[in-house]
Amino acid sequence: MKKQQFVVVGLGRFGSSLAKELIALGYEVLGIDKNDEVVQEMSQVLTHVVVADCTDEEALRSLGIRNFDCGVVAIGDDIQASIMSAILLKDSGMKKVVAKALSELHGRVLEKVGVDQVVYPERDMGIRVANQLVSPNLLDYIELSKDYTIAEMAVPKRLNGKSLQDIDLRVRFGCSVVAINKPQGVIIAPSASDVLTEKDVIVVIGTNGQIEEFEKEVI
Ligand code: ADP
Repeated sequence: MKKQQFVVVGLGRFGSSLAKELIALGYEVLGIDKNDEVVQEMSQVLTHVVVADCTDEEALRSLGIRNFDCGVVAIGDDIQASIMSAILLKDSGMKKVVAKALSELHGRVLEKVGVDQVVYPERDMGIRVANQLVSPNLLDYIELSKDYTIAEMAVPKRLNGKSLQDIDLRVRFGCSVVAINKPQGVIIAPSASDVLTEKDVIVVIGTNGQIEEFEKEVI
């Protein structure tokens, strides 16, 4: 199967970090920025880089951007350029367009022009860091919906040697451990007799309330 090809518009802090990660994951990335210094800096890292104004439809067409599978609009500060680039990528016929928004209103406009996914890096990172500050054992989490979350938690020392049955979290809190990440490998769908050690990371699924309770009482 052909590997997905990405175009990243705007190689600021967010765009360049995202583009580098896609390269590290083995994908091809075309990076576009109107600033030639920025483009120069990324020229050794990305598959292709181009100096262009992404609000210029002709320039984008000549780069053949419609042939890319996914485009990311990573321009933030210049809201007008962000919205115009998003429209041009969408109108080019590109299958998926993701755009970064600086505010709720910016995000709503991007949705209205047909962007497939709007991301709010500053807002989401703020929420994430706040959650990790109040519960240091919470390593990461994904909100599956408004109500459900998957959380990755470091196992505290006091649970060393305890089995899932001992902790009894399904009965006590209603949430479930779906995986245990141990130094020697991952146990998917662990059984009640699986034992935890302080080096493990557990992956828990449940409602936000259930996970909060479990964290407060046990983790
Ligand atoms: P960050 O906060 O992620 O650093 P910025 O909004 O500060 O994001 O930077 C976005 C990047 O997008 C900058 O490198 C800027 O040169 C580039 N950029 C802004 N407008 C355009 C445009 N019309 N065409 C191409 N690149 C643009």
